[in-house]
Amino acid sequence: MKEYSKPLPPINEQSRPFWQATREGRLQLPRCDHCGTFHTYFEPWCSHCGKEGVHWEELSGKGRIWANCKFHKVYFPGFADVAPYNVAMVELDEGPRIMTNIVGLLTGALEEMPIGMRVQAVFEDVSEEVTLVKFKPVP
Ligand SMILES: [Zn+2]
Repeated sequence: MKEYSKPLPPINEQSRPFWQATREGRLQLPRCDHCGTFHTYFEPWCSHCGKEGVHWEELSGKGRIWANCKFHKVYFPGFADVAPYNVAMVELDEGPRIMTNIVGLLTGALEEMPIGMRVQAVFEDVSEEVTLVKFKPVP
């Protein structure tokens, strides 16, 4: 595996189920036991209803682009060779929104990834432990 020079997410007790699933090509998120809100952060409580108690639930990996932009500034040295690069917020069909990159585009121009475009999760192994979730257009 090629050396990965971009920042990697920390894996801890709360986030480990997420990263284990992505390693297996699955997308799952914590969901509140009480109000059903999906979370895109890894804590044992719910910021929506304030109660403690979440379980993991598998998602379809399908959604649509909710917001898009290009990062021109290099915030981390590892991104120097890919800037400018796209960053998108994808709204999953089940409701939660996650920050990601869109892959599989011809040039990477924003016109290729308009708001509302249907996308599907793809999984990219970047280290021994981490498999990132990115999205590609649904043909
Ligand atoms: Zn809740």
